[in-house]
Amino acid sequence: MSLSPALAEITLFVTVPVTLLRRFHAMMRDRETEPCWHADMMDIPGLLKHGVSFHLSGERKDYGTIRPKRTQQTSETEGRHRRQRPRRKGIGMKLSQALSPSHMTVLIVGGGIGGLATALALQRQGIRSLVFERTQQFREVGSGLVLAGNAVKALDKLGLADVLQTIAAPLLFSRLRSWRGEVLMEIPMLEAMRRFRASAVAVHRAELHAALMQALEKESIHMNMQGVSFEQDEKGVRVWFASGEEVQADVLVGADGLHSLVRSQLVGATKPRYAGYTAWRGVTFFSRNQREEQTTFETWGAGKRFGFIPLSQGRVCWFAVATALEGEHEEETREKRKVLDLVSSCHEPAQAVVEATEASAILRTDIYDRPPLSSWSQGCVTLVGDAAHPMTPNLGQGACQAIEDAFILAESLKSAPTIASALQRYETRRIKRANILVQRSRRLGQIAHWEHPWLVNMRDTLLRMTPRRVLLKQIEWVVDNQI
Ligand SMILES: Cc1cc2nc3c(=O)[nH]c(=O)nc-3n(C[C@H](O)[C@H](O)[C@H](O)COP(=O)(O)OP(=O)(O)OC[C@H]3O[C@@H](n4cnc5c(N)ncnc54)[C@H](O)[C@@H]3O)c2cc1C
Repeated sequence: MSLSPALAEITLFVTVPVTLLRRFHAMMRDRETEPCWHADMMDIPGLLKHGVSFHLSGERKDYGTIRPKRTQQTSETEGRHRRQRPRRKGIGMKLSQALSPSHMTVLIVGGGIGGLATALALQRQGIRSLVFERTQQFREVGSGLVLAGNAVKALDKLGLADVLQTIAAPLLFSRLRSWRGEVLMEIPMLEAMRRFRASAVAVHRAELHAALMQALEKESIHMNMQGVSFEQDEKGVRVWFASGEEVQADVLVGADGLHSLVRSQLVGATKPRYAGYTAWRGVTFFSRNQREEQTTFETWGAGKRFGFIPLSQGRVCWFAVATALEGEHEEETREKRKVLDLVSSCHEPAQAVVEATEASAILRTDIYDRPPLSSWSQGCVTLVGDAAHPMTPNLGQGACQAIEDAFILAESLKSAPTIASALQRYETRRIKRANILVQRSRRLGQIAHWEHPWLVNMRDTLLRMTPRRVLLKQIEWVVDNQI
């Protein structure tokens, strides 16, 4: 799910010639009654011009609109919380007032990678922030993350270059393979590193999280604080928590992930969009030779995928993805059996690496995204990371984009004349790029999960033929993020 940003362009390269076949495939599948997913949002400009667009499971593309004023969707319980306690903090900087970064307080709801990176970026700019995380303590999140050059560059600038050196494994080779193991595409990682001065690395998610936490001032993080609602006016924003506490700040950043409360209060609550597939992930110790230690691969079959990512300290992270109904979860040993069955016909070391993983260490996650928004901010409230632009993990860019958000938001708050103009500046620099990645990632997932043998053959042939310059161009687009 995280092979390389280079794959983004392939969505166009592959989709254009096979779109007609794809439509035929969708028609064939529609005739069969089994639940299936269809092409969605194939917004290839040339095709859209001719009115060709597809929709997944009957859902239409739904661009959210920002309501001019917050709608009243506070529950009775939330109302009670508000009455229970007096304000804890009072800060009042008017939206239009000249910005004074050293006197500003930014409240961040959510302490995932996006929230912590935002707090760190603000800290580096001399802006005070408070992070409120709903969980009591951060759970060890047992999986790996690929950080492409764009995120590595931003983390370097946030002062984490040395830490990354110790926790991250460099990825020097990257391949896309067929289910039988044939290399369909070699991603020019070394050339990209030389040309764009940006390297990709793999990290254990929990270790990246810990590194961000350690870089932050302790008093800025508040655990066991679940945000339940907020209200803003000319003086700033007030956030209420499930504990009954209320905190006031100048800016509110919703970094509360896919099911973001802040987002739903800003633009209205909607269900995330199931992508049609589910992913299993695991981390295990696995011996490899030196070259394999720097090589990641992703293997595409018919409606299924497998990926292998080397981590530091002799560990590897793997993922398996399959077209599936939403919400089908089973007990852990059965889940492991399912993955073993799924990869039984895949080339090695898929079977061996899954076999080597404890059943209890295998995570299963249904994959979702949301249709892009046309705006993320309203007044003194904005969004970062999955709260703003949840994307399928096919391009391995979700966390990378959250880190970019963090950097640009802090820079905007430091340099713009008012809060309103800072949030506007942040959005202008980020929204188009993130939304493009949401769409490309979704399309790539659709292509990766084609099942019809004709389509799979056609796809694999086109992947083999993809010119190197196309890949390099795409890597450049992702890596060159003006950070
Ligand atoms: C299978 C898979 C593989 C992936 N691989 C990659 C990859 O290789 N590279 C990459 O860049 N990205 C990858 N991603 C995407 C990446 O994981 C996410 O984009 C990223 O974690 C988003 O971070 P976030 O901080 O925005 O949200 P989250 O990580 O969801 O964090 C949100 C935080 O907010 C807290 N919270 C929620 N509600 C509240 C509330 N009301 N009050 C207080 N706290 C709250 C939550 O407890 C959580 O800690 C992958 C995703 C998946 C599913």
